[in-house]
Amino acid sequence: ITAEINDRGVVSPPAGALTVEFRDVSFEYGDDELVLRDVTARIEPGRRVGIVGRTGSGKTTFSRLVLRLVEATNGTIELGGVPIADIPMTELRRRVALIPQEVELFSGTIRDNVTLFDDAQTDDAVIDALHRAGLSSVAAGDIHRVLGPGGEGLSAGEAQLLSLARVWLRAPDIIVLDEPTARVDPETEVRLDAAVSELTAGRTTLIIAHRLSTLRRADDIMVFDHGRIVEYDDRQRLADDPTSRFHRLLTLALDDSVDIDDVTVDIAVSDAVGVA
Ligand code: ATP
Ligand code: MG
Repeated sequence: ITAEINDRGVVSPPAGALTVEFRDVSFEYGDDELVLRDVTARIEPGRRVGIVGRTGSGKTTFSRLVLRLVEATNGTIELGGVPIADIPMTELRRRVALIPQEVELFSGTIRDNVTLFDDAQTDDAVIDALHRAGLSSVAAGDIHRVLGPGGEGLSAGEAQLLSLARVWLRAPDIIVLDEPTARVDPETEVRLDAAVSELTAGRTTLIIAHRLSTLRRADDIMVFDHGRIVEYDDRQRLADDPTSRFHRLLTLALDDSVDIDDVTVDIAVSDAVGVA
């Protein structure tokens, strides 16, 4: 990582869902390899953007920039019209939530795992958040029950749902969801889809998607290839356009059992040999 992240910002973006705007952003991790190149994109408040692209194309790096976990090498990033470095870090952390690919649970109570030790949260608020995340049976039980190391006592699917409850409590204005690559069981998948749908309603949402069902809920689709955004438009418009990459993705992934990552690899491969 090249630059130290300083916290000297004093400007608050407007209340509510926020625009995310990248202008000519490039990024390298400090080894002279550009991971993002001239990324320019504007995400309107409250839109859900599904992000796809083969492995290593820069999707996670893009999301890290939105959270200011890393700083752009060149170019500008604004949230709600405010340059990201002008926003105080505490406000940024409150208003932009990341649901990481790998959820980290710790040994402690269910309550603490949801609130992350925020004592200001009431038990009722925690229970409500668990319900909304599709964890009604956990909500109906004892939220002071202690989980073992690594969230022992919850299934992997339940751990993901718990991470949604975390975000629900914080009520952020931008949500970045780095979807797990591993498949979850169909029942948990249904709960996840419903919970994500409710959580992201009215919020600017970036979903790095590995499942077709997630992309169906997106308003817009953004396709990354070698650090560039090569396609970004309304989902339906792209689906209707037989020349779009997204259209090809849908054609290739006719059934849900196909892993989207494999399909995007296919697209990249066919591009390489000049098959349009
Ligand atoms: P995936 O689908 O596998 O999650 P991705 O599109 O999210 O891939 P990124 O994680 O953004 O891709 O990585 C983009 C490029 O940056 C890759 O070439 C990767 O090797 C490199 N990279 C990622 N993290 C680091 C790091 N901390 N230091 C150096 N290089 C990194
Ligand atoms: Mg990634």
